Amino acid sequence: MVLKSLIDQEKENLIAFRRALHRIPETAYHEEKTASFVAEKLSEAGLPYKEGIARFGVMAWLDTRRPGPTLLIRADMDALPIQEETDLPFASQHAGAMHACGHDGHMAILLCTARVMTQLAERLCGTVKFIFQPAEEGPGGAKPMIEAGVMENPGVDYVLGCHLWPDIPEGAVGVKAGPLMAAMDRFDVKILGRGGHGAMPHQCIDALEVGCQVVGALQRIASRQMNPLTPTVVTVGSFHSGSTFNVIPSEAEFCGTTRTFDRGVWDSWPQRLERIIAGICEAMGADYRFTFSRGYPPTVNDVQMAHVVRRCAEEAVGKDRVMEPEPTMGGEDMAFFLERAKGCYFCLGTGREGGAPIHNPRFDFDEKVLAIAVEINCRAALTLLGRQETS
Ligand SMILES: [Zn+2]
Ligand SMILES: [Zn+2]
Repeated sequence: MVLKSLIDQEKENLIAFRRALHRIPETAYHEEKTASFVAEKLSEAGLPYKEGIARFGVMAWLDTRRPGPTLLIRADMDALPIQEETDLPFASQHAGAMHACGHDGHMAILLCTARVMTQLAERLCGTVKFIFQPAEEGPGGAKPMIEAGVMENPGVDYVLGCHLWPDIPEGAVGVKAGPLMAAMDRFDVKILGRGGHGAMPHQCIDALEVGCQVVGALQRIASRQMNPLTPTVVTVGSFHSGSTFNVIPSEAEFCGTTRTFDRGVWDSWPQRLERIIAGICEAMGADYRFTFSRGYPPTVNDVQMAHVVRRCAEEAVGKDRVMEPEPTMGGEDMAFFLERAKGCYFCLGTGREGGAPIHNPRFDFDEKVLAIAVEINCRAALTLLGRQETS
């Protein structure tokens, strides 16, 4: 079939693009060289594009000049502040930065998808937008790109994206309707007590001890307040207080993250957390500062779009290689695109025996899987935007 041979022609590019990007990882909102590389490749593909959206975001588009729906396909661009520990010949050239979450692969997939799609343009109607988004690892580039208007003119009907997924076998594809990834937020707490001599607690309000009580009580939200069938996480990831053995500290500071798939729970976090913090501080005579910073909403796939992607994946890799992945409490700002149009975020299996997980300094994958995602993207476009006479 024509599509397979068009994709076969991109196999060298997939490897070359991925490796070139892997060499120059840039963390959130520093994706300058990455954006230039993407722009250069888009211009070689003959596609119009716009740079500098939400700082380093890039959008290209394929306008078929025939009326029809608009499909947006998104890749994230940023690397992690990790020192790479692989011995790969194309290892990171930037000290302290590494593409350890596979975003180099995501960009290679999207660049080659765009290249193949320009050759399929005659078979399509409507518009395809190719979105390269900065800062997925936080603070989040999806929302500012949407605020800059990438979902409008023309309005986006469908969205697609994928993530490399070492939890499923190499070459398999994971597609799941409904919630796939959790809503994630951050909270910061400061307990204000009264410091003094370690031998004289009666003269003090021990901020460290009050902080410990709060941390313990926060764990009871998940275990005692939530429906056990509604997965929730409250993690305190950092706690700082005190400086030596015989001084009661006047302050304790900690921060953490909350996770849930449930919209109602998501809305209720600030009030639930503050009630516990305020109650314990009140009881112990301490004061507090509390800030709750909204992160990403839950990543939820549309049922019909998941069905379309599953069918395309089955055509690409065969029915027995398509599975339903377990949802994860990890967060993903693809969620913002999926909130605004019907879409599906699918998982591209990279798992192999002894392989490192994502966010690990030894993470790597075999680039041969990348062509699978290109094929799924193209098949989905032909399904959603295919011209009647050729579909
Ligand atoms: Zn990541
Ligand atoms: Zn990622």
